[in-house]
Amino acid sequence: MNAEPVLEDLDLHRMAKVQFDRAAPYTEVVDGWRGMAQWLFEPERIVEVVLPVRSDDGYVHIYRGYRVLHSTVRGPGKGGIRFHPEAGVEEVKALATWMTWKCTLVDVPFGGAKGGVRCDPHLLSQGEKERLTRRFTAALGDTIGPHTDIPAPDLYTDAQTMAWIYDTYSMMHPGSANLPVVTGKPMALGGLAGRAAATAQGGFYVTQRYLEIAGLPGLGSLDGARIAIQGFGNAGRNAASLFHEAGALIVALSDSKGGIFDASGIDPGQAGRHKDATDSVIGLDGTEQLSPKELLEVDCDILVPAAIELQITANNAERIQAQLIVELANGPTTPRADDILAGRGIRLIPDILANAGGVVVSYFEWAQNIENQQWDDAAVGTQLRQRMHHATEVVVTRRAAMVDAFDSYRDRWQETMPEAPELPVPDLRTAATAVAVQACREAAAQRGVWP
Ligand code: GLU
Repeated sequence: MNAEPVLEDLDLHRMAKVQFDRAAPYTEVVDGWRGMAQWLFEPERIVEVVLPVRSDDGYVHIYRGYRVLHSTVRGPGKGGIRFHPEAGVEEVKALATWMTWKCTLVDVPFGGAKGGVRCDPHLLSQGEKERLTRRFTAALGDTIGPHTDIPAPDLYTDAQTMAWIYDTYSMMHPGSANLPVVTGKPMALGGLAGRAAATAQGGFYVTQRYLEIAGLPGLGSLDGARIAIQGFGNAGRNAASLFHEAGALIVALSDSKGGIFDASGIDPGQAGRHKDATDSVIGLDGTEQLSPKELLEVDCDILVPAAIELQITANNAERIQAQLIVELANGPTTPRADDILAGRGIRLIPDILANAGGVVVSYFEWAQNIENQQWDDAAVGTQLRQRMHHATEVVVTRRAAMVDAFDSYRDRWQETMPEAPELPVPDLRTAATAVAVQACREAAAQRGVWP
Protein backbone atom coordinates (compact mmCIF):
# COMPACT_ATOMS: atom_id res chain seq x y z
CA MET A 1 0.00 0.00 0.00
CA ASN A 2 1.32 3.44 -0.90
CA ALA A 3 1.83 5.91 1.94
CA GLU A 4 0.07 9.30 1.75
CA PRO A 5 2.24 11.66 -0.31
CA VAL A 6 4.03 14.29 1.77
CA LEU A 7 3.15 17.82 0.70
CA GLU A 8 6.12 20.12 0.26
CA ASP A 9 6.83 23.38 -1.53
CA LEU A 10 8.19 22.53 -4.99
CA ASP A 11 8.66 26.11 -6.22
CA LEU A 12 12.29 26.22 -7.37
CA HIS A 13 12.89 29.88 -6.61
CA ARG A 14 11.60 29.51 -3.05
CA MET A 15 13.80 26.42 -2.79
CA ALA A 16 16.82 28.52 -3.80
CA LYS A 17 15.77 31.03 -1.11
CA VAL A 18 15.67 28.35 1.61
CA GLN A 19 19.18 27.27 0.58
CA PHE A 20 20.33 30.90 0.66
CA ASP A 21 18.76 31.54 4.08
CA ARG A 22 20.49 28.49 5.52
CA ALA A 23 23.88 29.70 4.25
CA ALA A 24 23.46 33.40 5.10
CA PRO A 25 24.27 33.20 8.83
CA TYR A 26 27.78 32.00 7.94
CA THR A 27 28.52 34.86 5.56
CA GLU A 28 29.16 37.96 7.67
CA VAL A 29 26.14 39.73 6.30
CA VAL A 30 24.39 40.07 9.61
CA ASP A 31 25.19 43.82 9.79
CA GLY A 32 22.79 45.50 7.43
CA TRP A 33 21.54 42.01 6.72
CA ARG A 34 18.14 42.48 5.16
CA GLY A 35 19.10 44.95 2.43
CA MET A 36 22.35 43.22 1.54
CA ALA A 37 20.71 39.80 1.52
CA GLN A 38 17.94 41.02 -0.73
CA TRP A 39 20.45 42.60 -3.09
CA LEU A 40 22.41 39.37 -3.35
CA PHE A 41 19.36 37.16 -3.77
CA GLU A 42 16.91 39.09 -5.97
CA PRO A 43 17.42 38.82 -9.75
CA GLU A 44 18.72 42.03 -11.34
CA ARG A 45 16.69 41.71 -14.52
CA ILE A 46 13.89 39.51 -15.85
CA VAL A 47 13.12 39.52 -19.57
CA GLU A 48 10.04 37.74 -20.92
CA VAL A 49 9.45 37.67 -24.66
CA VAL A 50 6.71 36.34 -26.92
CA LEU A 51 8.06 34.53 -29.96
CA PRO A 52 5.98 33.94 -33.08
CA VAL A 53 7.53 31.13 -35.11
CA ARG A 54 6.31 29.71 -38.42
CA SER A 55 5.94 25.92 -38.19
CA ASP A 56 6.65 23.53 -41.03
CA ASP A 57 2.88 23.22 -41.54
CA GLY A 58 2.72 26.93 -42.39
CA TYR A 59 0.90 28.02 -39.21
CA VAL A 60 2.35 30.50 -36.76
CA HIS A 61 2.87 29.22 -33.21
CA ILE A 62 3.58 31.40 -30.20
CA TYR A 63 6.26 30.50 -27.65
CA ARG A 64 7.34 32.26 -24.48
CA GLY A 65 11.01 32.85 -23.76
CA TYR A 66 12.72 34.04 -20.59
CA ARG A 67 16.16 35.32 -19.71
CA VAL A 68 16.94 36.15 -16.11
CA LEU A 69 20.10 37.98 -15.13
CA HIS A 70 20.52 37.16 -11.47
CA SER A 71 23.69 39.02 -10.54
CA THR A 72 26.47 41.04 -12.16
CA VAL A 73 28.22 41.70 -8.86
CA ARG A 74 31.23 39.61 -9.96
CA GLY A 75 31.00 40.03 -13.73
CA PRO A 76 28.67 39.68 -16.72
CA GLY A 77 25.83 37.15 -16.59
CA LYS A 78 26.57 33.57 -17.60
CA GLY A 79 24.33 30.57 -17.97
CA GLY A 80 22.56 28.22 -20.32
CA ILE A 81 19.35 28.40 -22.33
CA ARG A 82 16.97 25.44 -22.11
CA PHE A 83 14.15 24.34 -24.37
CA HIS A 84 11.65 22.55 -22.17
CA PRO A 85 7.86 22.22 -21.83
CA GLU A 86 8.10 23.17 -18.13
CA ALA A 87 10.37 26.22 -18.60
CA GLY A 88 8.92 29.19 -16.73
CA VAL A 89 10.03 32.34 -15.02
CA GLU A 90 10.29 30.96 -11.45
CA GLU A 91 12.38 28.03 -12.65
CA VAL A 92 14.66 30.28 -14.71
CA LYS A 93 15.06 32.67 -11.73
CA ALA A 94 16.22 29.78 -9.54
CA LEU A 95 18.58 28.42 -12.19
CA ALA A 96 20.08 31.91 -12.70
CA THR A 97 20.64 32.21 -8.95
CA TRP A 98 22.44 28.87 -8.84
CA MET A 99 24.61 30.04 -11.77
CA THR A 100 25.81 33.00 -9.67
CA TRP A 101 26.88 30.71 -6.81
CA LYS A 102 28.39 28.21 -9.27
CA CYS A 103 30.51 30.79 -11.12
CA THR A 104 31.71 32.17 -7.79
CA LEU A 105 32.62 28.76 -6.37
CA VAL A 106 34.86 27.86 -9.30
CA ASP A 107 36.12 31.44 -9.46
CA VAL A 108 35.23 32.35 -13.03
CA PRO A 109 34.68 36.10 -13.51
CA PHE A 110 30.96 35.93 -14.24
CA GLY A 111 27.69 36.52 -12.49
CA GLY A 112 24.69 34.27 -12.99
CA ALA A 113 21.99 34.13 -15.65
CA LYS A 114 19.72 31.59 -17.29
CA GLY A 115 17.25 31.39 -20.13
CA GLY A 116 14.43 29.15 -21.16
CA VAL A 117 11.91 28.75 -23.93
CA ARG A 118 8.68 26.94 -23.08
CA CYS A 119 8.34 24.39 -25.89
CA ASP A 120 8.48 20.66 -26.45
CA PRO A 121 11.78 20.13 -28.29
CA HIS A 122 10.72 16.58 -29.25
CA LEU A 123 7.90 18.03 -31.36
CA LEU A 124 10.05 20.59 -33.20
CA SER A 125 11.81 19.91 -36.50
CA GLN A 126 15.38 21.15 -36.98
CA GLY A 127 14.08 24.06 -39.05
CA GLU A 128 11.52 25.02 -36.40
CA LYS A 129 14.21 24.90 -33.71
CA GLU A 130 16.42 27.13 -35.82
CA ARG A 131 13.67 29.72 -36.38
CA LEU A 132 12.73 29.64 -32.69
CA THR A 133 16.36 30.11 -31.62
CA ARG A 134 16.94 32.98 -34.04
CA ARG A 135 13.71 34.73 -33.03
CA PHE A 136 14.58 34.34 -29.33
CA THR A 137 18.08 35.75 -29.91
CA ALA A 138 16.66 38.71 -31.84
CA ALA A 139 14.07 39.32 -29.11
CA LEU A 140 16.76 39.32 -26.42
CA GLY A 141 18.57 42.01 -28.40
CA ASP A 142 21.31 43.73 -26.43
CA THR A 143 20.35 42.14 -23.14
CA ILE A 144 22.88 39.46 -24.20
CA GLY A 145 26.40 40.30 -25.36
CA PRO A 146 30.06 39.28 -24.88
CA HIS A 147 30.39 41.59 -21.84
CA THR A 148 26.81 41.70 -20.56
CA ASP A 149 25.28 38.21 -20.52
CA ILE A 150 26.70 35.14 -22.26
CA PRO A 151 24.39 32.15 -22.96
CA ALA A 152 25.43 28.48 -23.30
CA PRO A 153 23.70 25.11 -23.80
CA ASP A 154 21.37 23.56 -21.23
CA LEU A 155 18.53 21.01 -21.47
CA TYR A 156 17.76 20.18 -25.13
CA THR A 157 20.04 22.85 -26.58
CA ASP A 158 23.48 22.09 -27.99
CA ALA A 159 26.42 23.35 -30.09
CA GLN A 160 24.13 23.78 -33.11
CA THR A 161 21.75 25.97 -31.10
CA MET A 162 24.74 28.07 -29.97
CA ALA A 163 25.90 28.44 -33.60
CA TRP A 164 22.47 29.89 -34.52
CA ILE A 165 22.59 32.28 -31.56
CA TYR A 166 26.07 33.42 -32.57
CA ASP A 167 25.06 33.86 -36.21
CA THR A 168 21.90 35.81 -35.39
CA TYR A 169 23.69 38.07 -32.89
CA SER A 170 26.49 38.60 -35.38
CA MET A 171 24.08 39.60 -38.15
CA MET A 172 22.68 42.18 -35.72
CA HIS A 173 26.16 43.44 -34.74
CA PRO A 174 28.18 43.57 -37.95
CA GLY A 175 31.77 44.75 -37.72
CA SER A 176 32.42 43.36 -34.24
CA ALA A 177 34.22 40.22 -33.07
CA ASN A 178 31.14 38.46 -31.66
CA LEU A 179 32.35 34.92 -30.92
CA PRO A 180 32.36 35.44 -27.13
CA VAL A 181 28.61 36.23 -27.09
CA VAL A 182 27.86 32.56 -26.50
CA THR A 183 29.78 29.45 -25.39
CA GLY A 184 29.40 25.75 -26.12
CA LYS A 185 29.78 26.53 -29.83
CA PRO A 186 30.96 24.03 -32.46
CA MET A 187 34.73 23.67 -32.92
CA ALA A 188 34.50 25.40 -36.30
CA LEU A 189 33.15 28.52 -34.55
CA GLY A 190 35.67 28.94 -31.76
CA GLY A 191 34.32 26.17 -29.49
CA LEU A 192 36.42 23.86 -27.36
CA ALA A 193 36.60 20.10 -27.90
CA GLY A 194 36.10 19.42 -24.19
CA ARG A 195 33.00 21.60 -23.68
CA ALA A 196 30.36 18.94 -24.38
CA ALA A 197 31.78 16.51 -21.81
CA ALA A 198 32.85 19.23 -19.37
CA THR A 199 29.88 19.04 -16.98
CA ALA A 200 30.37 15.29 -16.52
CA GLN A 201 34.16 15.64 -16.43
CA GLY A 202 33.90 18.26 -13.69
CA GLY A 203 31.51 16.07 -11.68
CA PHE A 204 33.93 13.20 -12.07
CA TYR A 205 36.86 15.28 -10.72
CA VAL A 206 34.76 16.53 -7.81
CA THR A 207 33.68 12.99 -6.87
CA GLN A 208 37.23 11.69 -7.19
CA ARG A 209 38.63 14.44 -4.95
CA TYR A 210 35.79 14.15 -2.46
CA LEU A 211 36.43 10.42 -2.03
CA GLU A 212 40.15 11.13 -1.54
CA ILE A 213 39.72 13.79 1.12
CA ALA A 214 36.47 12.87 2.87
CA GLY A 215 36.07 9.20 1.95
CA LEU A 216 33.06 6.97 2.34
CA PRO A 217 32.96 3.93 4.61
CA GLY A 218 34.36 1.06 2.53
CA LEU A 219 34.93 3.26 -0.52
CA GLY A 220 38.22 5.15 -0.90
CA SER A 221 38.10 5.52 -4.68
CA LEU A 222 35.84 5.05 -7.69
CA ASP A 223 37.32 1.63 -8.44
CA GLY A 224 34.53 -0.90 -7.85
CA ALA A 225 32.00 1.75 -6.74
CA ARG A 226 28.43 0.89 -7.77
CA ILE A 227 26.88 3.88 -9.50
CA ALA A 228 23.31 4.64 -10.63
CA ILE A 229 22.79 7.53 -13.05
CA GLN A 230 19.42 9.16 -13.71
CA GLY A 231 19.45 10.90 -17.10
CA PHE A 232 21.26 9.89 -20.29
CA GLY A 233 21.58 13.29 -21.95
CA ASN A 234 24.84 15.14 -22.28
CA ALA A 235 25.77 15.06 -18.58
CA GLY A 236 24.54 11.55 -17.69
CA ARG A 237 25.88 9.80 -20.76
CA ASN A 238 29.36 11.30 -20.48
CA ALA A 239 29.39 10.64 -16.72
CA ALA A 240 28.54 6.97 -17.28
CA SER A 241 31.56 6.58 -19.60
CA LEU A 242 33.95 8.47 -17.29
CA PHE A 243 32.96 6.54 -14.15
CA HIS A 244 33.07 3.23 -16.09
CA GLU A 245 36.58 4.01 -17.39
CA ALA A 246 37.68 4.72 -13.80
CA GLY A 247 36.66 1.19 -12.78
CA ALA A 248 33.21 1.91 -11.35
CA LEU A 249 30.29 -0.41 -12.00
CA ILE A 250 27.32 1.35 -13.65
CA VAL A 251 24.45 -0.63 -12.10
CA ALA A 252 21.57 1.51 -13.39
CA LEU A 253 20.88 4.09 -16.08
CA SER A 254 17.76 5.88 -17.22
CA ASP A 255 16.50 8.37 -19.78
CA SER A 256 13.17 10.21 -19.94
CA LYS A 257 11.43 7.06 -21.24
CA GLY A 258 12.63 4.62 -18.59
CA GLY A 259 15.59 2.93 -16.94
CA ILE A 260 17.65 -0.25 -16.86
CA PHE A 261 19.34 -2.14 -14.03
CA ASP A 262 22.05 -4.80 -13.96
CA ALA A 263 23.79 -5.52 -10.64
CA SER A 264 26.78 -6.93 -12.54
CA GLY A 265 27.29 -3.64 -14.40
CA ILE A 266 26.14 -2.01 -17.65
CA ASP A 267 28.57 -1.10 -20.44
CA PRO A 268 27.79 2.59 -21.14
CA GLY A 269 29.12 2.26 -24.70
CA GLN A 270 26.60 -0.48 -25.43
CA ALA A 271 23.83 1.47 -23.71
CA GLY A 272 24.70 4.51 -25.84
CA ARG A 273 24.56 2.53 -29.09
CA HIS A 274 21.24 1.01 -28.02
CA LYS A 275 19.89 4.49 -27.24
CA ASP A 276 21.07 5.85 -30.62
CA ALA A 277 19.40 2.96 -32.44
CA THR A 278 16.10 2.77 -30.51
CA ASP A 279 15.80 6.24 -28.89
CA SER A 280 15.94 4.80 -25.36
CA VAL A 281 18.20 2.73 -23.09
CA ILE A 282 15.21 0.47 -22.34
CA GLY A 283 15.57 -3.09 -23.58
CA LEU A 284 19.36 -3.35 -23.50
CA ASP A 285 20.30 -7.06 -23.41
CA GLY A 286 20.73 -8.54 -19.95
CA THR A 287 19.11 -5.64 -18.07
CA GLU A 288 15.95 -5.36 -16.01
CA GLN A 289 13.63 -2.47 -16.73
CA LEU A 290 12.74 0.11 -14.10
CA SER A 291 11.30 3.62 -14.08
CA PRO A 292 13.47 6.75 -13.70
CA LYS A 293 11.95 7.21 -10.20
CA GLU A 294 12.74 3.61 -9.21
CA LEU A 295 16.30 4.13 -10.38
CA LEU A 296 16.81 6.62 -7.55
CA GLU A 297 16.09 3.91 -4.99
CA VAL A 298 18.30 1.09 -6.32
CA ASP A 299 21.02 -0.47 -4.19
CA CYS A 300 24.21 1.44 -5.10
CA ASP A 301 27.08 3.39 -3.52
CA ILE A 302 26.79 6.61 -5.54
CA LEU A 303 23.63 8.07 -7.04
CA VAL A 304 24.01 10.66 -9.81
CA PRO A 305 20.85 12.61 -10.65
CA ALA A 306 21.74 13.99 -14.09
CA ALA A 307 18.30 14.74 -15.54
CA ILE A 308 16.02 17.46 -14.25
CA GLU A 309 15.06 19.20 -11.02
CA LEU A 310 12.85 18.01 -8.13
CA GLN A 311 13.69 14.31 -8.29
CA ILE A 312 14.70 13.65 -4.68
CA THR A 313 11.92 14.91 -2.42
CA ALA A 314 10.35 14.30 0.97
CA ASN A 315 8.48 11.46 -0.76
CA ASN A 316 11.45 9.29 -1.69
CA ALA A 317 14.47 10.51 0.33
CA GLU A 318 13.79 7.86 3.00
CA ARG A 319 14.19 5.10 0.41
CA ILE A 320 17.48 6.21 -1.20
CA GLN A 321 20.11 3.54 -0.64
CA ALA A 322 23.22 5.34 -1.94
CA GLN A 323 25.84 6.62 0.49
CA LEU A 324 26.72 9.59 -1.69
CA ILE A 325 24.66 11.70 -4.12
CA VAL A 326 26.42 13.73 -6.81
CA GLU A 327 24.07 16.30 -8.37
CA LEU A 328 24.92 16.68 -12.06
CA ALA A 329 21.43 18.07 -12.71
CA ASN A 330 20.46 21.50 -11.39
CA GLY A 331 18.10 21.48 -8.42
CA PRO A 332 17.30 17.75 -8.21
CA THR A 333 16.90 17.72 -4.40
CA THR A 334 14.42 19.67 -2.24
CA PRO A 335 15.41 21.21 1.12
CA ARG A 336 13.22 18.73 2.99
CA ALA A 337 14.92 15.87 1.18
CA ASP A 338 18.30 17.43 2.09
CA ASP A 339 17.28 17.23 5.76
CA ILE A 340 16.09 13.63 5.49
CA LEU A 341 19.28 12.57 3.70
CA ALA A 342 21.47 14.36 6.25
CA GLY A 343 19.54 12.70 9.08
CA ARG A 344 20.24 9.32 7.48
CA GLY A 345 23.96 10.04 7.10
CA ILE A 346 23.78 10.20 3.29
CA ARG A 347 26.19 12.77 1.88
CA LEU A 348 25.41 14.97 -1.07
CA ILE A 349 27.71 16.98 -3.34
CA PRO A 350 25.49 19.88 -4.45
CA ASP A 351 24.79 20.92 -8.04
CA ILE A 352 26.56 24.28 -7.72
CA LEU A 353 29.81 22.37 -7.14
CA ALA A 354 29.21 19.01 -8.86
CA ASN A 355 28.04 20.38 -12.22
CA ALA A 356 30.21 23.51 -12.39
CA GLY A 357 32.63 21.92 -14.90
CA GLY A 358 30.43 23.08 -17.78
CA VAL A 359 30.73 26.74 -16.95
CA VAL A 360 34.46 26.42 -16.22
CA VAL A 361 35.10 25.22 -19.77
CA SER A 362 32.63 27.84 -21.03
CA TYR A 363 34.88 30.42 -19.38
CA PHE A 364 37.95 28.98 -21.17
CA GLU A 365 36.06 29.17 -24.46
CA TRP A 366 34.99 32.76 -23.78
CA ALA A 367 38.56 33.73 -22.82
CA GLN A 368 40.06 32.19 -25.96
CA ASN A 369 37.44 33.96 -28.10
CA ILE A 370 38.21 37.31 -26.44
CA GLU A 371 41.92 36.72 -27.10
CA ASN A 372 41.33 35.34 -30.63
CA GLN A 373 43.35 32.29 -29.61
CA GLN A 374 42.80 28.52 -29.66
CA TRP A 375 43.50 26.85 -26.33
CA ASP A 376 45.18 23.49 -26.22
CA ASP A 377 42.89 20.54 -25.24
CA ALA A 378 45.36 19.20 -22.70
CA ALA A 379 45.59 22.60 -20.97
CA VAL A 380 41.80 22.77 -20.78
CA GLY A 381 41.66 19.34 -19.10
CA THR A 382 44.41 20.14 -16.60
CA GLN A 383 42.95 23.50 -15.65
CA LEU A 384 39.46 22.04 -15.30
CA ARG A 385 40.78 19.36 -12.95
CA GLN A 386 42.70 21.88 -10.86
CA ARG A 387 39.71 24.18 -10.49
CA MET A 388 37.28 21.39 -9.61
CA HIS A 389 39.68 19.81 -7.11
CA HIS A 390 40.33 23.17 -5.50
CA ALA A 391 36.65 24.08 -5.24
CA THR A 392 35.94 20.68 -3.64
CA GLU A 393 38.68 21.22 -1.06
CA VAL A 394 37.38 24.70 -0.25
CA VAL A 395 33.82 23.43 0.29
CA VAL A 396 34.81 20.40 2.38
CA THR A 397 37.09 22.55 4.57
CA ARG A 398 34.47 25.24 4.94
CA ARG A 399 31.85 22.73 6.02
CA ALA A 400 34.14 21.30 8.67
CA ALA A 401 34.76 24.80 10.05
CA MET A 402 31.03 25.58 10.00
CA VAL A 403 30.17 22.35 11.82
CA ASP A 404 32.84 23.05 14.47
CA ALA A 405 31.46 26.50 15.17
CA PHE A 406 27.81 25.54 14.66
CA ASP A 407 26.60 26.26 18.19
CA SER A 408 27.90 29.81 18.19
CA TYR A 409 26.48 30.52 14.71
CA ARG A 410 23.11 29.14 15.74
CA ASP A 411 22.96 31.22 18.93
CA ARG A 412 24.01 34.41 17.15
CA TRP A 413 21.51 33.76 14.34
CA GLN A 414 18.66 33.21 16.78
CA GLU A 415 19.48 36.47 18.57
CA THR A 416 19.72 38.47 15.33
CA MET A 417 16.78 36.87 13.51
CA PRO A 418 14.45 35.54 16.25
CA GLU A 419 11.64 34.90 13.75
CA ALA A 420 13.85 32.91 11.32
CA PRO A 421 13.51 29.11 11.03
CA GLU A 422 15.94 27.03 13.05
CA LEU A 423 19.35 26.48 11.48
CA PRO A 424 20.04 22.86 10.52
CA VAL A 425 23.57 21.46 10.96
CA PRO A 426 25.36 22.65 7.80
CA ASP A 427 25.72 20.16 4.94
CA LEU A 428 27.90 20.49 1.84
CA ARG A 429 25.18 22.48 0.01
CA THR A 430 25.03 25.02 2.80
CA ALA A 431 28.82 25.22 2.90
CA ALA A 432 29.10 25.66 -0.88
CA THR A 433 26.37 28.31 -0.87
CA ALA A 434 28.05 30.09 2.06
CA VAL A 435 31.41 30.21 0.27
CA ALA A 436 29.74 31.70 -2.81
CA VAL A 437 27.42 34.14 -1.04
CA GLN A 438 30.27 35.44 1.08
CA ALA A 439 32.48 36.04 -1.96
CA CYS A 440 29.62 37.85 -3.73
CA ARG A 441 28.95 39.89 -0.61
CA GLU A 442 32.61 40.94 -0.44
CA ALA A 443 32.60 41.95 -4.10
CA ALA A 444 29.36 43.89 -3.60
CA ALA A 445 30.68 45.64 -0.50
CA GLN A 446 33.94 46.58 -2.24
CA ARG A 447 32.13 47.96 -5.26
CA GLY A 448 29.75 49.91 -3.04
CA VAL A 449 26.21 50.91 -3.87
CA TRP A 450 26.04 53.20 -6.86
CA PRO A 451 25.48 56.19 -6.89
N1 GLU B 1 23.87 25.19 -18.53
C1 GLU B 1 25.08 24.86 -17.84
C2 GLU B 1 24.90 24.95 -16.34
O1 GLU B 1 23.81 24.83 -15.84
C3 GLU B 1 26.28 25.61 -18.36
C4 GLU B 1 26.23 27.09 -18.27
C5 GLU B 1 27.38 27.78 -19.02
O2 GLU B 1 28.29 27.12 -19.50
O3 GLU B 1 27.33 29.01 -19.09
O4 GLU B 1 25.85 25.07 -15.61
